[in-house]
Amino acid sequence: MNSMTDRRSRPVYMDHAATTPVRPEVVEEMLPCFSERFGNPSSIYALAREARVTLEKARGQVATAIGARPEEIFFTSGGTEADNWAIKGVAAANKKKGDHIVTSSIEHHAVLHACRALEKQGYRVTYLPVDEFGRVDPAAVEEAITDKTILVSVMAANNEIGTIQPVAAIAKVAHDRGVPLHTDAVQAIGAIPIDVDSMGIDLLALSAHKFGGPKGTGALYVRRGTRIGTFMDGGAQERGRRAGTENVPGIVGLGRAIELATAEMPQKAPRLAAMRDRLIQGLLETIPDTRLNGHPSERLANNVNVAFRYVEGESILLMLDALGIAASTGSACTSASLEPSHVLTACGLPPEHAHGSLRLTLGPRNTEEDVDYVLSVLPRVIERLRKMSPLSPERYA
Ligand SMILES: *Cc1c(COP(=O)(O)O)cnc(C)c1O
Repeated sequence: MNSMTDRRSRPVYMDHAATTPVRPEVVEEMLPCFSERFGNPSSIYALAREARVTLEKARGQVATAIGARPEEIFFTSGGTEADNWAIKGVAAANKKKGDHIVTSSIEHHAVLHACRALEKQGYRVTYLPVDEFGRVDPAAVEEAITDKTILVSVMAANNEIGTIQPVAAIAKVAHDRGVPLHTDAVQAIGAIPIDVDSMGIDLLALSAHKFGGPKGTGALYVRRGTRIGTFMDGGAQERGRRAGTENVPGIVGLGRAIELATAEMPQKAPRLAAMRDRLIQGLLETIPDTRLNGHPSERLANNVNVAFRYVEGESILLMLDALGIAASTGSACTSASLEPSHVLTACGLPPEHAHGSLRLTLGPRNTEEDVDYVLSVLPRVIERLRKMSPLSPERYA
């Protein structure tokens, strides 16, 4: 397999759904907040007021990006905290009204495990099924809502298979029954247009490190008038609803990153989609017993997810890593476990397909050369693994 050691000088990073590099423009804006402009935004001297001003500028940038008002944006430590706050906060504030939540079976674990935690406290949760492409049916949401339903939570776009959900239609059926809608938009920001008013979104989670910002910083959008409890008790930061000294550098980075990501989306998305489609077509054409996971068209521009029968996703990743390609089997959070992905299983994929799935997620730094390289090595990787696999039929021996 000498030809498979043609490792390129520059590694190929195709795991942008797991995290993205912080953009230089973002780093530049963050740096002074660590040193010269280090003030605590809650203090009262000039240095602190300066920090307060930069914080509020970032709040405005986040609000503008999703069509919200600045006072509806609350900074958090990331997407996981924002999801937890939305779900547990709405549950706590609506105890008297009801104890039922509707969500989907393909949510990120930040949503699923927050719901599980509530179930242990006596709440009831409906985990809606999805179709073979990973789509939630708005009619199923409508059917699941009862007089006791206090929240519907459906993600805007899935992190593993890239499927985009009909969020506006789901919000409409929820609102018809007086139920607020939360959406995990962590993968959607900077990838598809998001407007909280026209889409009817009441709560929205986002995370800076998924669109060129720093890790450990995110935000929860809360529509004015939505009943939600506080998440952190302590000082009066974030208008008393999320205590703790603000991560000023991170928040400044979030603001700049979301501004850049949304402004550049119209130019960048078509380029990514073209590379995505070339990868998908190339893999399906050159590798037998391969299928596309997720929706063929209602799909994030940067997401490729394919299932190769008779091989283990983990072995594919190891061989790709040796060839300088960073990819994933699904979500980074489950890559240490050998359980098949809950998302692929919910889409009805038999375990033998789910186990052999590979996710390649593109970013603006990927080039056509990167695509060529992956298309040139992957068929040989799969062929080799199938030769070694006890699951393979005769023809691969
Ligand atoms: C990455 C991700 C999260 C978690 O965000 P963190 O900022 O890493 O905590 C939540 N939901 C989705 C869909 C994600 O892709």
